[in-house]
This record gives sequence, C-alpha cells and structure tokens, in this order.
Amino acid sequence: MTDIKVDTLRKEFSSDAGKIVAVDDVSFTVDDGEFVCIVGPSGCGKTTLLRCIAGLERPTSGQIKLGTEEVTDVPPQNRNLAFVFQDITLYPHMKVWENISYPLKLDGIGPDDRYEKAQEVADTIQIGELLDKYPGELSGGQQQRVAIGRSIIRSPRAYLLDEPMSDLDAKLKKEMRVELQRIQQQVGGTMVYVTHDQEEAMTLSDRMLVMDDGNIQQFGSPQKVYHEPNNLFVARFIGSPEINLLAASPVSDTGETVSVEDTDWTVDTGIQASSVPGRVTLGFRPRHTTVARTTNPDGLGGEVALVESVGDENILYVDTKVGEVRVVVDIEEYPVSEGDSVEIGVERSYLFDRDTGDTIAKSTEHQPDREDTVET
Ligand code: ATP
Repeated sequence: MTDIKVDTLRKEFSSDAGKIVAVDDVSFTVDDGEFVCIVGPSGCGKTTLLRCIAGLERPTSGQIKLGTEEVTDVPPQNRNLAFVFQDITLYPHMKVWENISYPLKLDGIGPDDRYEKAQEVADTIQIGELLDKYPGELSGGQQQRVAIGRSIIRSPRAYLLDEPMSDLDAKLKKEMRVELQRIQQQVGGTMVYVTHDQEEAMTLSDRMLVMDDGNIQQFGSPQKVYHEPNNLFVARFIGSPEINLLAASPVSDTGETVSVEDTDWTVDTGIQASSVPGRVTLGFRPRHTTVARTTNPDGLGGEVALVESVGDENILYVDTKVGEVRVVVDIEEYPVSEGDSVEIGVERSYLFDRDTGDTIAKSTEHQPDREDTVET
C-alpha cells in the first residue's frame, strides 16, 4: 500500500459556455492505510479529482505521487490502483470466481491458480459460497462485493471508489459500509472514496475532504469537521439536520453576547464583542441546544410547528421571534407535540463572517472527550 500526494492539481475543461475549472489547484496527502472520503455537492469536482488520481483524466497542471513515484503522466493500467465505480460491470456469462479473478486472467494466470486466489478473496469478503454462481443469481449487495473482490485480487497500491453504493437501498448501504470498513482493516488498504452523502462520509472516513466549486473547504477527521468547521459552507453541508443560521450583532456593553435578528434575544457566545466585526452570522446545531417546557429567562420561546420522528429522536421545527429554529430532542426525555410551547437554549455556537463565510470563532472549544460521540 502507499500514500497518495496531490500537489496543486488543476483540471480545466472547455465547454461551449467557456472554461470550467473542475479542480482548482488542490493539494493534500492521503496517508498510507488511511480511509479518506471526498465529499461535496454535485458538480464540485469530486469525480474529476478521483479520475485524475486514477489516471483516467489528464490534469491541466499539478502533480500526483504514489509513494515516492510520480505518476502524473503514467497511464492508468500502470498505476496498479483498484477502481470501484457506481455501475457494477460484472460479466453476466462468467461465474463469480471468474469475475473476481478476471484481472489475473489478463495477467496470463491459469484457471486453477485463479480459482484458488478467487476463493481466498471471496472468503475475505464473505461470499466464499457464491463462487460458482452467476451474477444474475446474486443480490445487489452481493454483486457489489464481487466488484470489490475483483478490485482487491491484485493487491493494488490503493483503492479508488466512486459512489459505489448509490444504487443500493438504505439498509444494504448501511451493511456495506460496515463491510467496507472491515475489508479495509483486513487488507490494510489506502482508500479514497467519493460520495455526495455527508452521513456516509462521516461514518466511513478517517479524514474527510470537503469540496466545493473545485476547492478544498476542509480536510480533517469527521469530528474536527463537524465540531470545528472552517466556514459556513462546511457548517451547513456537514451535519443533519442542518445547522441553524441567523443574523446577529454584538451587544457592546455585555462583552460576549450577540443579539439575534435585531430582537431582544441574546446568545452568550463566549467571544469578546470587540473581536466580532459588526453584523455576523450566528450558527448553532440543532443538537447543541437545550429544550425546556419551563420558562427559561435566557431561552428563546416558541411554538412547535412540526415534529419529525427519526429513530429515538424528534426534530422539532419551532416558530420563534427570530424565525424557524430546528432542535433535536430525545423522544423519551421530551415527549413534545405540535402546538406545544417550548424554550430553547443554545449550548454551543459559531460566528461566521457575513461577507466571506469564514468562521470567526466558536463559543466553546471542542472537547476531545466528545470526539467519539459525533452526531450526524
Ligand atoms: P457529481 O456528484 O454530480 O458526480 P462531482 O462533484 O463528481 O459531481 P465532477 O463530475 O467532477 O463533479 O464535475 C466537476 C465539474 O466539471 C462540473 O461542472 C462538470 O460539469 C464538469 N465536467 C466534468 N467532466 C467534464 C467533461 N468531460 N467535460 C466538460 N466538463 C466536465
């Protein structure tokens, strides 16, 4: 296995509308054995970046290294990287073992050795009993495993996966995520995984690379990205339900407080008013709130307009004087119904520059002991 170094990589396309900068001078390193998800909205350049690493797209400028070897101009077949794409292209007329071991056939290896190796790989990914079946006899998840098996049989230097699970249903997706992590631990592979699904990226990544408009917005652990977003874009894109964002301005005589949406509701941000540049955007996550039925003089009163149940939690959409505020409560702790009155308190908040969207500061330093309990 190997690390992957990407240095000021740029990819431009020409179109009728002019030049498109799909990847805009990005630099990062994926460490040996690391699982990195490239995540971002549609069109942000994820696939193009992955295809450049794979060698399927020629960069406009910049450099790609696998370990110490520069591969920027090396054709894809000579990079020894494994690809798994969204479309599973198994050969329908070949049995599972033939599909898995197909790359070895191209290397001129005989059927007995191929069968043996396919068996070994299939056992690793827990489809050992399917070797003599045809793809048409398999479920979607099993087909996906065969595709993964085919990609790992040659012991590649790294794995590149582009939305490999987007065709699977939600339950199967969850199972395959666990499976993929298990496979990665077993084979110890360096993995780069493209997805537009922030929840998937949060679950799978050692580090996630959040992209927008061809640029890296943040590269860090899911905990870091969730708790310490670099900017408004990252704060909004990561975390569900979405962060609450409201206009705010410092209350000069109270030191660390901002008033919200020009009302008398203030939030203690723990950030000195003197370091807040006039009007800002206040952000707080629906999970970083307290909700009470009793009147809390520091809280924000409102009426629950909608209750959305998600497993053990309820998402409450509360009508308040600063507009709609989303909060998450435990169903058993807060059995709330639509029409109820509640008081909302803010436990942790962020301030963003109103013009640039950059994070100015966050109210509470992220506590390392909370890193294991990331909520998405
Ligand atoms: P999605 O999640 O929708 O697949 P993405 O983040 O993977 O999106 P890319 O497919 O990398 O984004 O596309 C980035 C930009 O480059 C888009 O504006 C896209 O239209 C453009 N683009 C990609 N491939 C080409 C091409 N071959 N020719 C012209 N423009 C392209």
